[in-house]
Amino acid sequence: MDLNTKLAILDRIYKIYNDFAKGLDIACKRYCAHCCTYNVTMTTIEGYKIALYLESNGQSDLYAKVRKATSQKRFQPKVSTNRLAELCEQGKDVPDEDSGINRGACPLLTDNECPIYPVRPFGCRCFVSRIGCMERGYAEIDPFVLTVNDLLLQYIEHVDKDGYFGNLTDVLLFVQSQVKIKSYRKETLKTADTVMIKNQPIKAILLPPEHKVKVKPILHALQSIKISKTHI
Ligand code: SF4
Ligand code: SF4
Repeated sequence: MDLNTKLAILDRIYKIYNDFAKGLDIACKRYCAHCCTYNVTMTTIEGYKIALYLESNGQSDLYAKVRKATSQKRFQPKVSTNRLAELCEQGKDVPDEDSGINRGACPLLTDNECPIYPVRPFGCRCFVSRIGCMERGYAEIDPFVLTVNDLLLQYIEHVDKDGYFGNLTDVLLFVQSQVKIKSYRKETLKTADTVMIKNQPIKAILLPPEHKVKVKPILHALQSIKISKTHI
């Protein structure tokens, strides 16, 4: 699938989530950035969308902040969402992820605002809390929202199945590299940095039994996405 088609599908997926999120009762508001940490993850197609935005908005200087962040300990996932779903379905063990992660601020965060807000990755869009995290010290997320979040994460990875998944810092430095982005664009990229992991297509979907009916309209909307002759 070419990158323009992937980007168009990604926009549709974001739109489906925006429509869903409009109906949620959440405490999230402007300048509330307690959840903007070093530990955000994303796929390469989301990183590519951000790279295009930075370039067209003259914000490429933000890469310097990202590069600086590589000295910081950050969450670097060992399994992608689709691999996790597959392992769960097969009843296999899931690799332990490093829990001793840094809660420092996202390298992009500027004056408590997101400078790439219109193109922020799904990992940021889907982190919504029913209560103010600043006051309580933790987020409270509706279990059904978590189900929808997982479903959309799976679809985004599926769309970018020949790409990679990793920490926001690592993915942004990857998409900034002209050599790597060229092979990603041509779909000839065989290996990425060891700090990122390969995406994979959906082989199993994580759906709790109590949400199977309620999630149907969103699942249907995802399955109906069609860009010219391409279906997800
Ligand atoms: S998830 Fe928590 S910290 Fe993030 S915007 Fe919402 S209320 Fe604020
Ligand atoms: S990309 Fe933007 S929304 Fe996401 S963590 Fe960074 S500053 Fe926050």
